[in-house]
Amino acid sequence: MTQDNKTYELLEALLSTLEKGVIPATEAGVAAGNKIFGAALLRKSDLSTVLVETNNETENPLWHGEVHTLKRFYEMTGERPNSRDLIFLSTHEPCSMCLSAITWAGFDNFYYFFSHEDSRDAFSIPHDLKILKEVFTLEPGGYNKANAFWKGQSIHELISLLPEPQQTALRDRADAISRKYDGLSAAYQAGKSSNAIPLN
Ligand SMILES: [Zn+2]
Repeated sequence: MTQDNKTYELLEALLSTLEKGVIPATEAGVAAGNKIFGAALLRKSDLSTVLVETNNETENPLWHGEVHTLKRFYEMTGERPNSRDLIFLSTHEPCSMCLSAITWAGFDNFYYFFSHEDSRDAFSIPHDLKILKEVFTLEPGGYNKANAFWKGQSIHELISLLPEPQQTALRDRADAISRKYDGLSAAYQAGKSSNAIPLN
């Protein structure tokens, strides 16, 4: 299989997981007052889904989509796959806490749909970039996306590298996913004044 075909298969699986797994779970999470962020784990071997989870900050402000997914992962009964054999999918570029959590849990990769700038500009959640600046003195994009622990990659950037017609096919699906998140974000923002999340 060529590299382009492998990338297409991976991206197709990531978008399917968002469409069929993460978004339905997020609709329930947002209805309960939680943020729109979600995550999933897929097996590298066959791209099957291991776990889907979403933000649960109404229970605990540390339960970001990614950390809540890891919590559930380590609560799995029966045979739990090795993190080295898994793909970490995040709806949004992980914050500093989640970058560290992914590192400590032993993952060597993550793929994200929306960027930190999207979280600030399109979703009115500026905290990721603000923490990176205030605590770590980092400008946007200032952390090391390919390092000794993992490589973090933007799904949109990977789509833009595909040949046609695959690129347009996946971009159309990505656009539809973005529109779904516009609606979820509007629902969260409309209700957030009444929640007790410290950084809402
Ligand atoms: Zn986070």
